[in-house]
Amino acid sequence: MVSYNSPMQCDVAVIGAGVFGAWTAYQLRLAGASVLLLDAYGPGNSRASSGGETRIMRLGYGPDEIYSRSAQRSMVLWRQLFEKTGNNLFRKTGLLWLARERDAYCEATLTTLQRIGANYERLDREELARRFPQLAFGPIAWGLLEPDSGALLARRAVQAVAAQVDYIEAAIASPKTQGGKLNSIQTTGGKEIAAQQFVFACGPWLPKLFPDLLSKLIHVTRQEVFFLGVPPGDDSFNAGVLPAWIDFNDLVYSIPNVDGRGFKLAIDAHGPEFDPDRGERVVTTSGLNAVREYLAQRVPRLANAPVIETRVCQYENTSNGDFLIDRHPAFENVWLIGGGSGHGFKHGPTVGEYAAELITGRGTPEPRFSLATKQRVRQREVY
Ligand SMILES: Cc1cc2nc3c(=O)[nH]c(=O)nc-3n(C[C@H](O)[C@H](O)[C@H](O)COP(=O)(O)OP(=O)(O)OC[C@H]3O[C@@H](n4cnc5c(N)ncnc54)[C@H](O)[C@@H]3O)c2cc1C
Repeated sequence: MVSYNSPMQCDVAVIGAGVFGAWTAYQLRLAGASVLLLDAYGPGNSRASSGGETRIMRLGYGPDEIYSRSAQRSMVLWRQLFEKTGNNLFRKTGLLWLARERDAYCEATLTTLQRIGANYERLDREELARRFPQLAFGPIAWGLLEPDSGALLARRAVQAVAAQVDYIEAAIASPKTQGGKLNSIQTTGGKEIAAQQFVFACGPWLPKLFPDLLSKLIHVTRQEVFFLGVPPGDDSFNAGVLPAWIDFNDLVYSIPNVDGRGFKLAIDAHGPEFDPDRGERVVTTSGLNAVREYLAQRVPRLANAPVIETRVCQYENTSNGDFLIDRHPAFENVWLIGGGSGHGFKHGPTVGEYAAELITGRGTPEPRFSLATKQRVRQREVY
């Protein structure tokens, strides 16, 4: 731990200890750099996009092999970290895709999983009903199971990564200079931190920190998450019995009861614009009604189950869902990392690895992560 009063100087200052910033700091440290990680509210705090209880770890991404391969590599790096810390924060629940008769996304996912050599099972409707009687399949015609996927215990996992590097709690003001080389940043408390390179991995705060550049390119949307209480003594909604599942035709995903937190269900459609500092995190009646309506169709036994916990989080969406990992166009030594777009958590390790390579001059830029490819018109393509 770095003392708050000592003069602060390092090779790289990483601002933002969400999953992207924490992994970037850790990968830079592994590459030999001296790193200082900073966060205004703490690693995996309740306002951060990474601050939830659980996040799905899956390989399938339709035709987007780049993300499937990234998830596959990330799984290895997450496992290595958990082996190192001696605390496994991954729950191998399996991940089930619920597919319609003609389902371009799930068919493309199956092809991609074959191409990358991943384990999977294609389940027909009868097999689905036999193995998962907790679900009512309605228009679902078949399923695709990723047996090795599951859920990461998100908040705790981010904290485990952040614990690998020097960290201080401090809010950083937007850089005042207009461009060129940034020599130091200021905390809102007036401390100065000097570094060779600066990484702003501030997730949904990026448009606030760099409004001229990013306010039209990253859209922060309000998302509601519900945890339903399962019947007493009933293990059929538990991790190990029921997998996590995704029904993108209805834009719904679910994580089974992990560590007694309840059966998690959320609607993945983008909500209204949201302020991550000031926004109230209380769910709406309309959100709850939509969840109950969906439960009645797909998980009838939980249709009237009590809500035992709720969360309001935010997605930080780029125009199409591709991440933003690029140099700030006006500063030679400032990097922007964000745009997780509702699917970024699992990729923390590879985002950090890729960013560390770019920052240390070893990497090859991927056009899909560049600032230049980010559009103003929103057209979601990556799920
Ligand atoms: C409800 C919900 C469900 C999701 N489900 C999944 C899922 O199942 N699987 C998956 O892979 N992904 C999922 N995601 C997406 C994933 O959680 C995000 O893409 C990811 O957490 C983004 O991480 P980040 O580090 O970019 O941002 P954050 O986690 O928001 O981190 C940014 C950090 O920057 C700090 N910060 C901001 N401004 C400053 C400043 N000025 N000074 C200092 N610090 C600052 C903040 O305090 C914060 O800790 C989900 C997201 C949400 C909201």
